Amino acid sequence: MREKLKKISNYCLNLFFPLNCAGCGKDLINEKGICRECLGKIKYVKEPYCYKCGSNKEVGFLCNKCRNIKYYFQRIYICSLYEGILRKCIHSFKYKEKTILQQPLGNLLVTYISKKIDLEEIDCLVPVPLFKSQKKRRGFNQVNLLTKKIEKHFAKPQIINNLIRIRKTVPQFDLNRKQRRENVKDAFEVKNPQLFKGRRILLVDDVCTTGATLNECARVLDQCQVEKIFCLALAHG
Ligand SMILES: [Zn+2]
Ligand SMILES: [Zn+2]
Repeated sequence: MREKLKKISNYCLNLFFPLNCAGCGKDLINEKGICRECLGKIKYVKEPYCYKCGSNKEVGFLCNKCRNIKYYFQRIYICSLYEGILRKCIHSFKYKEKTILQQPLGNLLVTYISKKIDLEEIDCLVPVPLFKSQKKRRGFNQVNLLTKKIEKHFAKPQIINNLIRIRKTVPQFDLNRKQRRENVKDAFEVKNPQLFKGRRILLVDDVCTTGATLNECARVLDQCQVEKIFCLALAHG
């Protein structure tokens, strides 16, 4: 209970009081979570990149590594790279409870979507879920917070708690491609398939490396007779 109260009060404090910049550490007055200079250093990714895993910037559509893998989504959209300032921001957002970063990071996605994604093709947003104990420990799912910004801005509903993570997975960063796929295999489930049936879904995650998590989520969504699945990641790396 005490832990929960601490999480809630941290969440509120971070929302209403200015903090240091998550990029350079300087005091912030009017900016939220990140200073203007640091924000200016975060660049959008330029195409071409592999439409399935987001890597190999020199190729478009499919890279060599993805040719023999079955993908359940149409394509992935990558907003930026998981490096420098953005990496620091995502880390602070996830692990240091700097939930105020929901604002600038969510805005990055909103601007990116306005330029790159035809939302006429999308019915709803689905954030990649955390396992319940993970969410409880953190106090929030950072991807939900990002998707909430998109939901508000574009008036596209996000559907949460229908795609769920049913078992704990280890962090993907130390694993190779094959291990990543195995790590997330059968880790997701849909509670009510009817809710997704016939829908065109934008599946959202914060960081994507090989696309294994997104593809496993998409595989489960595909079993609900969805019409189309697109993926969006804030950062690739
Ligand atoms: Zn800064
Ligand atoms: Zn690829």
